[in-house]
Amino acid sequence: TAAAEKELENPLKPPVEIKYTKLFIDGEFVDSISGKTFATYDPRTDEVITHVSEGDSADIDIAVKAARIAFDEGPWPKMPAYQRAQILNRYADLLEKHSQELAALDAWDSGKPYEQALNAEIPSVVRNFRYFAGWADKIHGRTIPTESGHFAYTLHEPVGVCGQIIPWNFPLLMAAWKLAPALACGNTVVLKTAEQTPLSALLAGALAIEAGIPPGVVNIVSGYGETAGAALSYHMDVDKVAFTGSTEVGKKILEAAGKSNLKKVTLELGGKSPFIVCDGADVDQAVELSHFALFFNQGQCCCAGSRTYVHENVYDEFLEKAKERALKRVVGDPFRSGVEQGPQVDREQFNKVLGYIKSGQEQGARLITGGSKLGSRGFYIKPTVFADVEDHHDIFNEEIFGPVQSVSKFSSLDEVIKRANRNAYGLAAGIFTKNIDQINTLSRGLRAGSVWVNTYDVFDATLPFGGYKQSGLGREKAQTFESTNMALGKLNINGVGVPG
Ligand code: NAD
Repeated sequence: TAAAEKELENPLKPPVEIKYTKLFIDGEFVDSISGKTFATYDPRTDEVITHVSEGDSADIDIAVKAARIAFDEGPWPKMPAYQRAQILNRYADLLEKHSQELAALDAWDSGKPYEQALNAEIPSVVRNFRYFAGWADKIHGRTIPTESGHFAYTLHEPVGVCGQIIPWNFPLLMAAWKLAPALACGNTVVLKTAEQTPLSALLAGALAIEAGIPPGVVNIVSGYGETAGAALSYHMDVDKVAFTGSTEVGKKILEAAGKSNLKKVTLELGGKSPFIVCDGADVDQAVELSHFALFFNQGQCCCAGSRTYVHENVYDEFLEKAKERALKRVVGDPFRSGVEQGPQVDREQFNKVLGYIKSGQEQGARLITGGSKLGSRGFYIKPTVFADVEDHHDIFNEEIFGPVQSVSKFSSLDEVIKRANRNAYGLAAGIFTKNIDQINTLSRGLRAGSVWVNTYDVFDATLPFGGYKQSGLGREKAQTFESTNMALGKLNINGVGVPG
């Protein structure tokens, strides 16, 4: 409405003061060697929020050296594991205490609704640290009855200096997924944040020192991918790189490992996840859940349920209600209470999403609502739904990373499994049905790392996470220490109802 668009012209003041903008290396906030800074922008207005120090290869070198010394000589990997756990629990408490500031920084920097950051993401950050603190003194090796009668055992040792490169869509949560397990095991870290969202991690760096994590154990370098990120991935003294981001850059990270020191690599990459609404499903609930699966976080989720397959018997009813739901979605200033959707993260993503909407129309998909930007400032896009999307349409194959739902009709489970699997990605999938036969057939048939049944986006700290095919390499979060078989494993969660 015009009133809503008017509101967007007068953004609210974020409830936070920016305290840290320099690089965080060896326990101190320092300028970059080059002295350069870069701007981080408010996606509500495209105005500069502040300038932060810009790290590049010279700063990465210094950070890696600090992490190396902290690993080789420092107390961190050698201290009794329960003490590391204590410190990480203290860290979790401090992050919790600063929830409002951290949530406000992420909302300001990325455009995500403040309430979602405060009520969902930051609590999840805190739980991640508590969960992995619990693991610190429970990582066991094995004793092995050898053929030769020798006494033999395995030890789980920290990898060493870990480079961690993260994206902008869940800034602090992505940092937490990387930092918590690495720190619990006694590793030291150089974290390269996304250039769009450097702010929350810097505050988290200051809190790490307050919690008692020794200097050099956590180092945080703001900077660009082609400079700071590439320097980390090619560094000869980095033992592992854990990366979350696009498949395109993930391939570069793996190549860099091969061309440098064969550092270990884990990759969490893109997705084009199917969400399948079966014959006999409760359509109202299916609409609500598939809407959440796609539109959550402005559609900027690696797991977004971005291919909605709906059985022919419920297709027309589904479309009508999906359109209604999209029209009701509350788009607005992320600092306004009750807002479900803020702006896209930056101009590049905004233009990319609008480009996909255009291509959907040109290639013959039927636009049933949305399809354009909202307001005259910032990067807001109307919740958009396409019907009759076909397998050859680009919007059905490529990652849009925006608030664009693509709905397609199917007739049989065999058909939908084949179509869902005919894609380069395999990160997640959603199934909506109460029929146990349909659940079993689909959850085994779908080539995806996580399959959510009657629920979506369950990112519990206790569950492993990662992709099949070009969605990634290795697993993150829970149980990753336990079993290498997990690297091929699939997670199947049966939920009930629709998340609130
Ligand atoms: P991106 O791959 O361009 O950027 C991600 C990170 O990599 C940033 O920190 C960036 O600076 C860095 N980077 C860029 N080029 C680099 C290089 N040559 N060497 C080293 N580092 C480099 O991704 P993006 O487009 O900014 O983010 C969106 C993508 O991230 C989507 O494709 C999405 O699916 C993916 N993603 C995946 C997950 C997951 O868990 N699988 C989570 C969030 C986002």
